[in-house]
Amino acid sequence: MTPVVQQHEDTIAAVATPPGEGALGIIRLSGPRAFGIANRVFRGKDLAKQASHTLHYGEIMDDGEVVDEVLASVFIAPHSYTGEHSVEFSCHGSPYILQRILRLLIDAGARPARPGEFTKRAFLNGRMDLAQAEAVADLIASDNRASHMAAMNQMRGGFSNRIKTLRDKLVHFASLIELELDFAEEDVEFAKRDELKGLVTEIQQVVAGLIESFELGNVIKQGVPTVIAGKPNTGKSTLLNRLLNEEKAIVSSIPGTTRDTIEDEIHIEGIRFRFIDTAGIREARDQIEAIGIQRTHDKMKAASVIVYLFDLTRETEKDIRKEINKLDKLGIPYIKTANKTDLAGPELRARLQQTWPDMVFISAKLEQNLESLKQKLLEIIHLKDFKTGDVIVTNARHYHSLVQTRAALINVMEGLETGISNDFLALDLRDALTHLGEITGEITTEDLLDNIFRNFCIGK
Ligand code: GDP
Repeated sequence: MTPVVQQHEDTIAAVATPPGEGALGIIRLSGPRAFGIANRVFRGKDLAKQASHTLHYGEIMDDGEVVDEVLASVFIAPHSYTGEHSVEFSCHGSPYILQRILRLLIDAGARPARPGEFTKRAFLNGRMDLAQAEAVADLIASDNRASHMAAMNQMRGGFSNRIKTLRDKLVHFASLIELELDFAEEDVEFAKRDELKGLVTEIQQVVAGLIESFELGNVIKQGVPTVIAGKPNTGKSTLLNRLLNEEKAIVSSIPGTTRDTIEDEIHIEGIRFRFIDTAGIREARDQIEAIGIQRTHDKMKAASVIVYLFDLTRETEKDIRKEINKLDKLGIPYIKTANKTDLAGPELRARLQQTWPDMVFISAKLEQNLESLKQKLLEIIHLKDFKTGDVIVTNARHYHSLVQTRAALINVMEGLETGISNDFLALDLRDALTHLGEITGEITTEDLLDNIFRNFCIGK
């Protein structure tokens, strides 16, 4: 391993545990003077003389007064989270104690850390790439199995490694082509064009897959906007109520009396489905049309999935067919859901089932077969196509860079097909390399870094 360059003069300190009382609280200290500063407040052993990854009991002293009994963990550079000398104090989790110890460390020469500064240093010291560093924030924010899995994969190198390997190969070709530029007079070809094409195709496939995964990644992070629609009295509020398991909507047998703004969510196997309820859709006579309008006007609120209810006690097969035709034109995934099976005759059900084998039959009121409906919801977002360990892009910044990479690669490919001059080819390659490099942080600007780490919590 290459020795870590201490890029930072300052030694930074912060409370790393959340505000409020807890059994324990942790204070982090990182930088070239970590041990010296720690020694000034810690009474026990000389922390500068201890082996890395060891734990030491002692007291935090303030002018002869014992502030707390603590455990100090010692990490010697480069084997720490930040890659610098680090000490972590485990104290009693009183906000007063923690603030007082932090103050003592600052008086002893540390500087209060900015949000995300520990992770930023880890990145700058080569402990992790940018995508991995960003995944740390996602990991902390993960609140379900799916988002946890995606963040964990990414933090452990997920697609960073893949992108880095491909980018390195592309760098190799780009340098060969630039070398050819130096020998322009002699008409040499160092970079085999067929091999380059093969590589570009390979990268295009990987990039396309990652771009596609973002749709799911976004869903994992934000939840799937879901709309329950259907004609008045088909049982929409009843279904929502049953799904939410609480009386959030006013169930009424009078059409159009559900007036409260309802917005709630359920989790199915770790995926969050957000039920959106907009007056525009609810109050429309033709809900399918209203969803169409809503979608064109307000992209964010548009549904990703529609649970469309048919009322088996009132609608004929012909009515249903008419609605299905309209739904198909909408271009939004939807689930054909036949409600009130408890009141429906078996013949109608059998006929519908034959015509539309994917129709789900439920009784919202009696809570029958709601499990099938939930499984359909999962199916429709293609979650099942992704397996544990699959790489999923959840970060909008990565997505953006991938889209730009895709565009640059199309230019490279076109250039190769049409045999454009090497200068242009080199430019297009540079473009693709830049955007790929932005993801893992091989190409960064101070602004970009500030932007990313500003959103971290202090102490991370
Ligand atoms: P919305 O207008 O689509 O929201 O419909 P509601 O949820 O208000 O339901 C209309 C009426 O149908 C209410 O009287 C419900 O109790 C009734 N209902 C809803 N689902 C079922 C069901 O599965 N079976 C039966 N028998 N009645 C239902």
